[in-house]
Amino acid sequence: MKLSNFINGEWQEGEATYTAVLNPANGEQLAEVRMSTKEDVDTAVKAAVNAQKKWALVPAPKRADYLYEIGRLMKERKEHLAQVLTKEMGKVIEEGRGEVQEGIDMAFYMAGEGRRLFGETTPSELADKFAMSVRAPIGVVGLITPWNFPVAIATWKSFPAIVAGNAFIWKPATETPMMAYEMAKIFQEVGLPPGVANVVFGSGSEVGTAMIEHEDVKVISFTGSTDTGSKVAELGGKHLKKVSLEMGGKNAVIVMEDADLNLAVEGILWSAFGTAGQRCTACSRVIVHKDVKKELETMLLERMEKLTIGDGMDESVKVGPVINKNALEKIHSYVQIGKEEGANLVVGGEILDNGDLAKGNYYAPTLFSNVKPDMRIAQEEIFGPVVSLIEVDSLEEAIEVNNGVKFGLSSSIFSRDVNKIFRAQRDLDTGIVYVNAGTTGAEIHLPFGGTKGTGNGHRDSGVAALDVYTEWKSIYIDYSGKLQRAQIDTE
Ligand code: NAD
Repeated sequence: MKLSNFINGEWQEGEATYTAVLNPANGEQLAEVRMSTKEDVDTAVKAAVNAQKKWALVPAPKRADYLYEIGRLMKERKEHLAQVLTKEMGKVIEEGRGEVQEGIDMAFYMAGEGRRLFGETTPSELADKFAMSVRAPIGVVGLITPWNFPVAIATWKSFPAIVAGNAFIWKPATETPMMAYEMAKIFQEVGLPPGVANVVFGSGSEVGTAMIEHEDVKVISFTGSTDTGSKVAELGGKHLKKVSLEMGGKNAVIVMEDADLNLAVEGILWSAFGTAGQRCTACSRVIVHKDVKKELETMLLERMEKLTIGDGMDESVKVGPVINKNALEKIHSYVQIGKEEGANLVVGGEILDNGDLAKGNYYAPTLFSNVKPDMRIAQEEIFGPVVSLIEVDSLEEAIEVNNGVKFGLSSSIFSRDVNKIFRAQRDLDTGIVYVNAGTTGAEIHLPFGGTKGTGNGHRDSGVAALDVYTEWKSIYIDYSGKLQRAQIDTE
């Protein structure tokens, strides 16, 4: 199967270079994807500019009707979409289904915004004058997404963009184009006006750069690593783009001495090894009170040894492959760094290549203990199934360790003490805080994003996402029949 771009409601034809899409579970080729050029981006932007002018005039509740249809089709095809997702990305099928569900939820939630998109009305300081603010669409927006959530993140961005009256160009990650292809088919089937939704496949350096540099793309919404995000911001700044960035994390679970340890272990396993540790919200540090450190370590080890590893299409598997060989090497190099830094490797720390596992990219769930907060394995994003135990003496120290990294996406605390919990939720410097749950599990109607090196102040998801895709317009209507001057004619 050859995946080509979806531009102006059609599948782009013509000569192009294609690259293979591989299944990370077994190395099989699933498809070939077009590696587009700057000219392809120009074609897509031109179509989007034309379409957006008319789209902005369609009443928002009518724009929302397309989202209801998109949600309905996604629901009808949920199992098929989940299987495509698991094959191209590797996450276990249960999580694949969960991610598709997130997209469905987002479709219905944002469709509801078609009848809200609330602005404000407020009294004027002058008599016989009316004042209000409304959300106005911005134009053509560029969406750049990572491979670890091939569909959910795109729905967080594209659905608010279109309900607000924008057109979009979506560049998915090269590793995971198949979900974008499936979504483009849905956009076509629901009859979205040609040019409102466009998918352009290809590399970040060629397609991503062309989108950022294009004068008719007014907003860039990016999710990916902090290194890439910083380049996107730099180039976007030069071209005066509105740039929304969602980037890396180094998320921690805090386990206090009064915690329900069984519950904490469940939360850690799910957050650290789900999606093979490749969630932006993955738990990669466990900050544990010294009184329960030994017990927690033993309990974790016992449960980690029972985790089933393999192809995510097998319903019994809990930990799937990582995305590619480069990721395997990166994870393994961090394990070497951890050992050299003097951390204690409790379990794991190896590339798995027995039998069928040799065909895919599998890394053993790995636990380090005696990790110090300033070690590189406790500071840098590893993005694999590797977790570090850091011992602390108090809640204050736990919060300091949690906050002592350059990222600020998600954090969690396990405790039964309401005073500790309230202090922690106030002082943890992350965009998302969980109490008595792991570091993952965001719901789509709340803002999603992080502080410090994780973001630049914008949010995906929730009603906050609308701020990325709209401009505030303030409107004053004077019905006094005379010239009234604000701040001057106030007597
Ligand atoms: P990445 O930064 O390598 O790539 C992300 C996207 O940017 C891809 O589509 C890629 O092709 C594109 N890109 C690469 N170079 C570019 C350039 N110079 N200009 C424009 N676009 C460019 O990230 P990845 O490996 O795909 O994803 C993993 C990262 O994403 C992790 O760091 C993870 O924490 C982060 N992430 C963050 C969130 C969040 O919401 N905070 C969510 C998911 C993933």
